[in-house]
Amino acid sequence: MPRIAYVNGRYVAHAEASVHIEDRGYQFADGVYEVCEVARGYIVDMKRHLDRLDRSLRELSIAWPMNRAAMEIVILEVIRRNRVKNGLVYLQVTRGVASRDFLFPAGTRPSVVVTARKVDPAAAAKRAENGIKVITVPENRWDRVDIKSVGLLPNVLAKQKASEAGAQEAWFIDADGTVKEGGSSNAWIVTGDGALVTRPAEHGILRGITRTTLLDVAAKLGLRVEERGFTVAEAKAAREAFISSATTLAMPVVAIDGAPIANGHPGSVVLSLRQAFFDIAEKRPA
Ligand code: PLP
Repeated sequence: MPRIAYVNGRYVAHAEASVHIEDRGYQFADGVYEVCEVARGYIVDMKRHLDRLDRSLRELSIAWPMNRAAMEIVILEVIRRNRVKNGLVYLQVTRGVASRDFLFPAGTRPSVVVTARKVDPAAAAKRAENGIKVITVPENRWDRVDIKSVGLLPNVLAKQKASEAGAQEAWFIDADGTVKEGGSSNAWIVTGDGALVTRPAEHGILRGITRTTLLDVAAKLGLRVEERGFTVAEAKAAREAFISSATTLAMPVVAIDGAPIANGHPGSVVLSLRQAFFDIAEKRPA
């Protein structure tokens, strides 16, 4: 079955889907995106993802390419046309097509692309059983990583470096030695006395939707949460470490820079968060 993409008002074959060479997303990374999980035939946390899209667009003074209700219909239609029951939806909005000039173009319509793809849930479960390895890299991104912009070159380089080191994620480390977040995920640890620790999202990291929902899950499970910075040394000595994102959910980290976390196996707290996540997240039939 051919994959279908939505591009600026049309549903087109994925293989032939394209945007103009002077799209500002292509030339300036002048755009934003969202990735939502689809699980068991439901789109997960769509409201929170669209709320964050709204914020990202406002921060960059990019207009919505259509109203929010229409965007929801397009997202669900792309999932339907691609018959995705478990997988991901990707949605990108850029400032649009204009003759190359740094200043915002007048009267340009934003460009929008929505794609969806299937992911094998058994493969994701297997990854969670084994856990992942992370490396650490110095923070080298701009100050506005709270905006989910498509300008991801430092993240690309960091994740490539992780892959070449046999790891699956790179954690950006602040000048003060604290962990900021992963190249495409938020970072967490579980302390010796069972508290969940993750960096506050007010500044310097993306406020992950999975992170927000995991805070709800933690409250439901009666787990103590400390929103504060933690150092690499504290993470290496932690009882558990994990990452969170819409593509990985709560995913155990079993080694940091080659040093095993605890006994080098996924911990029970992250696995219980992972298990309870779907029940507590917002679900819309897709
Ligand atoms: N931090 C960064 C830099 C990301 O790119 C992502 C997701 O892509 C996240 C955190 C996690 O966000 P979410 O849980 O909304 O997927």
